[in-house]
Amino acid sequence: MKIIAIGRNYADHIAELNNKGDGKPVVFSKPDTALLRKNTPFYHPDFSKEIHHEVEIVLRISKVGKYINPNFALSYVSEIGLGIDFTARDLQAQLKQKGHPWEIAKAFDSSAPISEFVPISQYPDLKNLNFSLRVNGEIRQAGNTKMMLFDFETLISYVSKFFTLKKGDLIFTGTPAGVSKIAIGDHLEGFIEDKKFLDFEIK
Ligand code: MG
Repeated sequence: MKIIAIGRNYADHIAELNNKGDGKPVVFSKPDTALLRKNTPFYHPDFSKEIHHEVEIVLRISKVGKYINPNFALSYVSEIGLGIDFTARDLQAQLKQKGHPWEIAKAFDSSAPISEFVPISQYPDLKNLNFSLRVNGEIRQAGNTKMMLFDFETLISYVSKFFTLKKGDLIFTGTPAGVSKIAIGDHLEGFIEDKKFLDFEIK
């Protein structure tokens, strides 16, 4: 399986990092070694002094698809969950400055904690879905999918032009504003609407 992630999909987050949208989704990927499941603790690596949390809605692909028509894109998704796109912001800043790829800042081991997945049919209005992240009990990020620059259908269609999507692949769909540095001892809890999907610690 592969993990595809979308950058710069929420205008308020683009602004907080002083980035610019350019009319197309920003796409990158993570290997399967980035996955962290079952609310296992995240062990802070020593190669970064500034790892940020980015809470994101994650789609799980249910069948193989290539050049997917946006009108049928949601038929390729069976389940939805919540994930964190951990980002070594200090390394990413250095890489961006040099115009280099982001992989070591974005795709390192355990950089993609994911929740259990639930049937997407549980959420009939995917264009109005609240999700949030609490750190040590305080809300740090709160978003709604209506704030996305590119909706799920557009993302699936766009990504499938470049990458054949296969059953089990995951798409991280971008983060809203409020990203910030994690520290050892932090307790992260992630929600879609009122249901808790993520609950783990930084060690
Ligand atoms: Mg992200």
